[in-house]
Amino acid sequence: MDISQSILPVVPIRDGIVFPGTEMILTFGRQRSVSAIEAAQSSGRRVILVMQRNANINDPTPSDLNEIGTVAEIVQMMRNEGEINALVRGITKVKITSYEAVEPFFVAHIEELPELIEDDDQMHALFNHLTNQLRLAVKLGKSMDFLTFMNVMSGVTPQVLSYQLAGVLDIKPSERQQLLEEPSVKGRLEKESGYLSKEVKVLELEKKIATKTQEKFEKNVKEQVLRERIKTIEKELGEDDENKDTKELMEKVKKTGMPEEVRAKAEKEIKRLAGMSPYNPEASYVRTYVDWLIELPWSAQTPNDVVIAAAEKILNEDHYGLIKMKERILEYLAVMKLRAKRAHEDESIDIAKKNKAKSSPTILCFVGPPGVGKTSIGKSIARSMGRKFVKMSLGGMHDEAEIRGHRRTYVGAMPGRIIQGIKQAGTKNPVFMLDEIDKVGSDFRGDPSAALLEALDPEQNYAFSDHYLEVPFDLSDVFFITTCNQLDTIPPALRDRLEIIRFAGYTEDEKFHIAKDYLFEKQREVHGVPKDIVSLADPAMREIIRKYTKEAGVRSLEREISTIFRKVAKKIAEVEAKDLKQISVAVSDLYKYLGPYKYTASLAEKEDEVGMSTGMAWTEAGGDILFIEVALMPGRGTLILTGQLGDVMKESAQAALSYVRSRWKALGLAEKFYQKVDVHVHVPEGAVPKDGPSAGAAMATAIVSAFVKKPVRKMVSMTGEITLRGRVLEIGGVKEKVLAAHRAGIKEVILPKNNKKDLEEDIPKVVMSDLKFHFVEHMDEVLKVAIPKITLKKS
Ligand code: ADP
Repeated sequence: MDISQSILPVVPIRDGIVFPGTEMILTFGRQRSVSAIEAAQSSGRRVILVMQRNANINDPTPSDLNEIGTVAEIVQMMRNEGEINALVRGITKVKITSYEAVEPFFVAHIEELPELIEDDDQMHALFNHLTNQLRLAVKLGKSMDFLTFMNVMSGVTPQVLSYQLAGVLDIKPSERQQLLEEPSVKGRLEKESGYLSKEVKVLELEKKIATKTQEKFEKNVKEQVLRERIKTIEKELGEDDENKDTKELMEKVKKTGMPEEVRAKAEKEIKRLAGMSPYNPEASYVRTYVDWLIELPWSAQTPNDVVIAAAEKILNEDHYGLIKMKERILEYLAVMKLRAKRAHEDESIDIAKKNKAKSSPTILCFVGPPGVGKTSIGKSIARSMGRKFVKMSLGGMHDEAEIRGHRRTYVGAMPGRIIQGIKQAGTKNPVFMLDEIDKVGSDFRGDPSAALLEALDPEQNYAFSDHYLEVPFDLSDVFFITTCNQLDTIPPALRDRLEIIRFAGYTEDEKFHIAKDYLFEKQREVHGVPKDIVSLADPAMREIIRKYTKEAGVRSLEREISTIFRKVAKKIAEVEAKDLKQISVAVSDLYKYLGPYKYTASLAEKEDEVGMSTGMAWTEAGGDILFIEVALMPGRGTLILTGQLGDVMKESAQAALSYVRSRWKALGLAEKFYQKVDVHVHVPEGAVPKDGPSAGAAMATAIVSAFVKKPVRKMVSMTGEITLRGRVLEIGGVKEKVLAAHRAGIKEVILPKNNKKDLEEDIPKVVMSDLKFHFVEHMDEVLKVAIPKITLKKS
């Protein structure tokens, strides 16, 4: 195409190109552009449109413009508040050779760029391909001016097609410029073919995604419509699902025999549920609540009659020994029975009074170390009374809500442990064991023990209120038993209500009988081992007790026996029934079954030593013996204490040292004997925290022994708090300590004189006859027994 003028105004365009043969409406706002358009309008109406290399430049110089652009004709223009809107038509592609002027607008010399227009088969094929692709793209949703599309489809030359396409492809401005600069039509079409294919692919993908979403949406809508329709049909036929559900729930409520007040509440909630859409999340909360009301045993109970003789038989059947405890329990049951009878005959209508009369004012509390049979006695009580048994541990509980439940306004709210236990029992009169009541803590979340008291108090518990349930539940028929390892940490208000029964722990002999007559059989059955196939020799059983366990109860012992049966069961399972041989486990087989000894009788191997005494301690796991070591080193009279000692025990060590210092004369020591030495008191087994004043006597003995350099008899164990003047004071936990000493093989025990009374309480006869007791009032007496070689001068 000929251009009559070779010098024309230049108008920069930020990011667009007007290709030859295409039309576009452009808005010009920059002053230079407006002037150029206006100048062109009055002379030939032609301008050179070139794209800026960088769209962001506001005031470009010639070097910011591409060299190749399009000569365009201003077909129409309109002024609009300082801006110009113009319809322009591209005429031919040109190259700017030089700039004639830059002010007030760019004026440039141009030269026309000839185009290579091929005419071969490949070109035709390319042409056809591109028109097809374009049609496909438009079909897939490519947005394009309809007239342009029609124009292209009605038959154009390959060159026109190439320019038209270049204007409508979805590409970057720089790519568009490249298309303009391409000297051959075929080359341009080839490039465009690439771009268009990509575009088609993207469009196809978009369509696929859109279709899938659409399908899903339609399916949901369809399902919902169908469901609604089914509902309407069922409603018409009177067999509506929700109605059916509501009816069923109402039926169930009737059957439970709930009190009137609860029934009214349940029915109200069921009605509320019926009015809710099943898609309402609250519906499931209401449903859970209704289920709880229905499933609680409002009236279900086991017969409430105890025959004391039968109960005694069952307690004896299940447990060896524990004579005093069984006796106390039977007495308790007898009292309960009488009270219930009297309450039944009483015509009074005051429920609180009646309940008080019916139940015992105290709750049984089994105190003792683990594994002494507290739980299993509880189970036996349930069995002997024909009641269900549930156990709930309260250990580590800090939150009142755990006992009493969370209000229903909480998401995921549940009733408290008491109500949960009742549901688990399935009757309203189970034997309910509350384990570890000494481990209940209280903090900012409320005091669980207050809620516990309410549950246990016969005057209140006929209407126990759980936050979740909202309606009262009658706990007055529940037989509560509590257990704990120690009494000290139980809040006084709760403790006052408890009827304490102590389980101190077993002697070796008792353990032997329990293991032989009860645990062995129990484990045999648990492991499914046939009767009379396995036997455990008596000496082997004793060896297990001595060398594989160290405890007040029989838990580890039961575990070791279970290990033997596990291995035996494996052996039996591996052979044919006919090849089954008798298996007898002797002492020599223990290594095979249980591995090396876990405890050695440490006492027997120890020599009598200078600066080492044997004490006795009370722990939650029962009693234990402990060794106190004292070493003297050059120093300045400092007392060093190690072995995780509590504050009270540290003070007790200080007192022991002060006592020794004040007795220097009697002990035959130099006046300032302590000034040049440091005294180190160590209590081994450092991982176990130790506290309390009762090791005073043992510490003083070890310190004296270290200074006078005379050995202490290791077979003598001692306990007692001491004063600075050497008086020996009464201490607690005597029974457990004595049993522990006996277990450890101690021969003589030194106790404060005031503790003599504790021995009159049920300590097994074997223990009493095996041990020699010394009751003392003063350290001098302790020293005489424990350090035979000592000479005490009169001071
Ligand atoms: P606790 O509740 O005191 O921790 P458990 O009741 O769990 O102890 O007792 C541990 C195991 O020892 C149980 O299998 C129990 O049957 C058994 N056991 C404890 N004491 C006796 C006993 N005197 N006679 C028979 N078995 C006993």
